[in-house]
Amino acid sequence: MKAPSESMVQNLFLHEEQKSERYANYARLLFTLLYLLGGFGIKDEIPSHSFNTLLLLSGLNFLYGCVVFVLSRRDHYIPWLKYLSVTLDIIILSLFIYSIGSYRTFKTEAFSLYYLWIALATIRFSPRLTLLAGLLSITLYLVIVTLASSFNTVEFGTITQSFTTPMISINSLSAKLVILAVFIAIAVYISAIFRRLVTKTVNEMIITEENEKLASELKDATKISEIDPLTQLYNRRKISQILDETFSTATLTHQKPALIMVDIDHFKPINDRFGHLEGDKVLVQITQRMQHGLRKEDVLGRWGGEEFLIILPNTDIDTALFLGERLRKHVILQLPLNGENVTCSFGVTLLQDDDTVESFIRRADKALYLSKESGRNRVMHL
Ligand code: GH3
Ligand code: MG
Ligand code: MG
Repeated sequence: MKAPSESMVQNLFLHEEQKSERYANYARLLFTLLYLLGGFGIKDEIPSHSFNTLLLLSGLNFLYGCVVFVLSRRDHYIPWLKYLSVTLDIIILSLFIYSIGSYRTFKTEAFSLYYLWIALATIRFSPRLTLLAGLLSITLYLVIVTLASSFNTVEFGTITQSFTTPMISINSLSAKLVILAVFIAIAVYISAIFRRLVTKTVNEMIITEENEKLASELKDATKISEIDPLTQLYNRRKISQILDETFSTATLTHQKPALIMVDIDHFKPINDRFGHLEGDKVLVQITQRMQHGLRKEDVLGRWGGEEFLIILPNTDIDTALFLGERLRKHVILQLPLNGENVTCSFGVTLLQDDDTVESFIRRADKALYLSKESGRNRVMHL
């Protein structure tokens, strides 16, 4: 079996990545709007430099979002752009939190939750990208703490104040960092699991496809080995096999199968006069008529050139003769080329107690020979 193709998985990931980056960009544009609305809503409550920072960040974010939007609309995907996107998302979001740090939502512990949210937002299709975003989150967290400590002022927000007052211990800071690190590890793990799941699904899809292909090839091969391509009847190999099986069943159940051997009369002259292709058409037409004249349980196969064998699984000689006679009339074909009738001769025989498969067939053949000898277009039995 063919090994699942790694490039197929890669392509699938690229496609999913493209989609996720497009949605991430819509979210980016939406956040720009929220930054602005949020900024204007609390304009009077925050220092002016915080408000200006907000406007600047919104502008930057909007510009970047527009560029990515245009690129994605043109179906122009730049794979490395996702690293820049994640980096910008985290930097801008961190600066945003930092700039309005004194405002309600971002007081004290809510700040950690915000970082968790950032880390969560970074779960992408690549574990490497998720790791990058996580490490960046930790770095920026430390930068904010350092900034807050060195400025040592409430103006930079309650969250920063909580880092700078004696209340914030090195222990609680370490605890926050540990929580962040654990969370990032989980995020990378989730991303890796997701990747593995998708890879597994793709592999299963490939294997199913391969199996279906094999099954269809097997079906074709079986057809080639069992079916005669011209008449679409069972070929000699298959009809012999069915005869063997019928014979075995008959010996076990004491059923009486019958055989009818059929041969087209004076077929050679048809070929000679009208060509082999016309001869083929006559063969196919007679075959179709024969099939229509049979019962459901009877099996018809092509025994040789213009000879056919019919197996009647469980019958008696009268029924077999009746069927043979019915077929004889049914298969008579009027040649469109000269209006002559094409007929067939039939040899019928019923299984006898001391029969082997060979003696059974031989008797059917002899009965056919008798039909030919007695003038053709008739049914004889032995
Ligand atoms: P009879 O009544 O004694 O059976 O005469 P016949 O001409 O049918 O018998 P013969 O055995 O002399 O000729 C059989 C012919 O069938 C010879 C051969 O060219 C032709 N034949 C066998 N298979 C095919 C086939 O697949 N297509 C065509 N067109 N002819 C075939
Ligand atoms: Mg013939
Ligand atoms: Mg023949």
